[in-house]
Amino acid sequence: MERQQAIVVDGKALANDIRSELANRVTELGRAGQRPPCLCVVLVGDDPASASYIKGKQRACTRIGFESVEHRLPANVRERDVLALIEGLNRDPEVDGILVQLPLPAGIRAEAIAEATDPAKDVDGLHPINAGRLLSGQPGLVPCTPLGIIEILKRHEIDMQGARAVVIGRSAIVGKPVGILLLQQHATVTFCHSRTRDLAAVTREADILVAAAGSARMVKGDWIKPGAAVIDVGVNPIDGVLVGDVDFDAAKDVAGLITPPRGGVGPMTITMLLCNTLRAYESRTNSS
Ligand code: NDP
Repeated sequence: MERQQAIVVDGKALANDIRSELANRVTELGRAGQRPPCLCVVLVGDDPASASYIKGKQRACTRIGFESVEHRLPANVRERDVLALIEGLNRDPEVDGILVQLPLPAGIRAEAIAEATDPAKDVDGLHPINAGRLLSGQPGLVPCTPLGIIEILKRHEIDMQGARAVVIGRSAIVGKPVGILLLQQHATVTFCHSRTRDLAAVTREADILVAAAGSARMVKGDWIKPGAAVIDVGVNPIDGVLVGDVDFDAAKDVAGLITPPRGGVGPMTITMLLCNTLRAYESRTNSS
């Protein structure tokens, strides 16, 4: 019998569906005489990739009717000046979400920035209070990429309960939180990292494989269990082209479902940022 090709996730289409639901919510708020949610993005330095991510996030906001405010600071700014800006944004009643684009220039600690952000406005879900809430199963703001991954799996009706899920990567923004979310969905989760022995043997067991290592095309076709759901988070510039952590051409012949290196996880990450901003707005204004 001929094997069917994997379903290739259309992250843009999923994202558009969710974004139109969000736009409808903004229209409802306007009809009720309420202001729209407001996301404030902070860019430190002039990294072109970060500047382009920020632009994409702002565009996504304005398209659905959210307010979007940008603060740019020079690369040589002092950490205490960034902290002072964040404290001002924490106090501003019109700001619902605060996002400081990572990575930050040397000398500015991402942890200090995360801890300075009001947990109620921490739309990146990086404040230790939100990380703790996620771990203890309490409601809080959860990092966007992990939320987007779970949404992709749900919208494709991938059965997570009892599934073997393998996550490559253990960062605070992707690997760890996506593993915890998969656990909440009752998957049996294994975390892998740079010191995992015989990684391919572990990934071959996975019904759901999340690759978030930042290593170009490291996951080969024969690392994948036939029929598995493969979520490729990696964004790796190779000769001016962005490639994923998964060897897409080989993997699509083995997997049951796969995200493409572009137009898969990325659009869902931005969409979950919008969802988090709305959530922050609703819980701050009691308007859900
Ligand atoms: P980090 O660099 O913070 O973490 C990478 C993780 O992968 C680490 O835990 C590291 O292990 C592990 N790792 C690295 N190389 C290997 C390897 N060869 N074998 C096994 N494990 C390995 O990255 P992030 O979590 O921030 O991001 C991961 C990737 O996802 C990047 O390419 C990033 O650009 C992309 N990304 C994409 C997003 C999107 O929306 N599409 C959003 C966020 C990130 P150890 O802990 O041992 O060092």
